[in-house]
Amino acid sequence: MSFSHLGLSEKVLAAVAATGYKTPTPIQDQAIPHVLARRDVLGIAQTGTGKTAAFVLPMLTMLEQGRARARMPRTLILEPTRELAAQVEESFVKYGANHKLNVALIIGGVSFDNQDAKLTRGVDVLIATPGRLLDHNERGRLLLTGVELLVIDEADRMLDMGFIPDIERICKLVPFTRQTLFFTATMPPEIQRITEQFLHNPVRVEVSRPASTVAATTQLLARSGRDPHEKRDTLRRLIRSAEGLKNAIVFCNRKRDVATLFRSLLRHGFSVQALHGDMDQSARTAALEQFRKGEVTLLVASDVAARGLDVPAVSHIYNFDVPIHADDYVHRIGRTGRAGRSGVAITLVAGANDAKAVAAIEKLIGQPIPFMDNSPAASAAPQQQPPDHRGQSDHRVRSDHHGQSDHRRHSHRPALVGRSDDGRSRRSSPPAPRPRQDDSDASHLPAFLLRPISVKA
Ligand code: AMP
Repeated sequence: MSFSHLGLSEKVLAAVAATGYKTPTPIQDQAIPHVLARRDVLGIAQTGTGKTAAFVLPMLTMLEQGRARARMPRTLILEPTRELAAQVEESFVKYGANHKLNVALIIGGVSFDNQDAKLTRGVDVLIATPGRLLDHNERGRLLLTGVELLVIDEADRMLDMGFIPDIERICKLVPFTRQTLFFTATMPPEIQRITEQFLHNPVRVEVSRPASTVAATTQLLARSGRDPHEKRDTLRRLIRSAEGLKNAIVFCNRKRDVATLFRSLLRHGFSVQALHGDMDQSARTAALEQFRKGEVTLLVASDVAARGLDVPAVSHIYNFDVPIHADDYVHRIGRTGRAGRSGVAITLVAGANDAKAVAAIEKLIGQPIPFMDNSPAASAAPQQQPPDHRGQSDHRVRSDHHGQSDHRRHSHRPALVGRSDDGRSRRSSPPAPRPRQDDSDASHLPAFLLRPISVKA
């Protein structure tokens, strides 16, 4: 099935063809005709499913009619983080190559005056984080009474970040008759309540089971000692022995740990950047750009900063800390195994509390996560090994959902990542991973995530 049957305009179809996309993803296929029919849409989809284009493409088509008025944006897209807002803006640039639309980004951490000047000129698409949007509105510099279409993206992340009261306020500032497109990866009760309150007879489009993990990702646990320096040592060994590591995101639970780990990795000669909420906007943008372009190999990040980021080719995820909320695990590992690529996600387990948190994750994702039997810290700190919460007496492997019966084959090889003294990164080129078959039930996942999976056997 091609894009041509969805009802998109010629200009949009030409831009899509120019990007090289041949087939709409399931969320695009199911949502776009309803958006064009002016229906409210409740889209339950994770990042990586193509959900951004599912709203950007029909919006571009609809915005071809009519024009913008000063200080009265025609459409409004709410994003939880500045990076996600910037990413959506990039999508408008990419897919809107044949359009003359004014797109404005209203995010914190950058000058009010430039944003104000843009609003004065009239805006077709306003992409905003909730706090800064309300600031502009309260100053009387922005009217939301002309908004014909409202997109609320990553709603469950908005909830985690405490933005729901802001969202409720914004929903009351836009006209009752607007069209609303609402995207969330999960449906906790608070999100359910918001959808009932602010969506009018929505079409529900669901392309992944809430809290499902990406089938193309090999998930493993690695034992570690409990002290921070032991964990850092374990991480370094894991990274150095990783197979096929092109780039990796390392997740920490706390911002200050992001900063500490970043400095430590730098000291040990790794090619690394950091991303957390306390960095100013220009530093965050620069760090992300460097990582995207492959100028640095590792990105140490907090959950909030990294949520939803579209970095298409991440080969490895390391959970330096087991996430406190099991949901975050799903979002973290969603950074790899994207768009048909294979990925590896390794979680450090240091102590009984971590083991408990892992058990909660396994319950949520409905599958066990095996330990690597050659976990680098296993020999380094045997006295620190966490008790096995599943009664496994050794590191033996059980069959996982992917039909992978022996994760010991997930071998480790010496140093792929590092930095020579002159600061340039060096990498060896590992052989391409061999495909493996997946026999798990992943029928809820979009087709382009379900291509044969590649891991090194
Ligand atoms: P998103 O879920 O919006 O973050 O998109 C995930 C990635 O999929 C982005 O890199 C998009 O450029 C890419 N993508 C979106 N639509 C398609 C499509 N129809 N075919 C192939 N890739 C796509």
